[in-house]
Amino acid sequence: MIEIVLATANPHKVEEINAIANEHGINFVQVVDGFEPEENGKTFEENSTIKAIAASKLMQSYALADDTGLCVDALNGRPGLFSARYAPTQKEKIEKLLNELKGFDKEERKAEFVCSMTLTDKYGNVVYRTKGVCKGHIAFSPYGNGGFGYDPVFEVDGLGKTMAEFSLKEKNTISHRAKALLPMLEWIKVNF
Ligand code: IMP
Repeated sequence: MIEIVLATANPHKVEEINAIANEHGINFVQVVDGFEPEENGKTFEENSTIKAIAASKLMQSYALADDTGLCVDALNGRPGLFSARYAPTQKEKIEKLLNELKGFDKEERKAEFVCSMTLTDKYGNVVYRTKGVCKGHIAFSPYGNGGFGYDPVFEVDGLGKTMAEFSLKEKNTISHRAKALLPMLEWIKVNF
């Protein structure tokens, strides 16, 4: 198995990513506890790069980082880069989002999850980058018990369910993160 550091403090991301990666002979190991570099980039790409470089330098190893955000059309792409800082808790983030969208009909609730992935070598040089997008709508209220983050209010286009209603296996066939991860895994398999 190829082992690579995953630059996240979020165990859900490690679980989602390894559920795909292990089948490809690659295992991601969560970076040490307390990893919280300042995400002050202006794009998802910049933020995933900041996280990957910080983890590479800390662990002196290859590191993969993902930066994800929820971009809502009616909010001009917000919360976007600020998805993690939109409100203190995830419950409050969802409440705030639903409040901001009060009065908007289904068509106006169009949204997308965007995931940028960056891989850096042990010196912190960027070696590969990918991006994945998943399109949908913001539901009128949360439902579903799976996933994490904004999953309970994100209805995936064409499937009529929120992301939180999918099993991990199903989420991993359609998600922004899976779409960014698959080409990244192919690159790693060829280049390691
Ligand atoms: P970050 O990429 O860890 O900075 O995540 C940004 C925000 O998006 C956090 O509030 C996460 O909980 C949320 N988030 C990240 N990935 C997902 C996902 O796959 N589904 C739902 N929410 C997510």
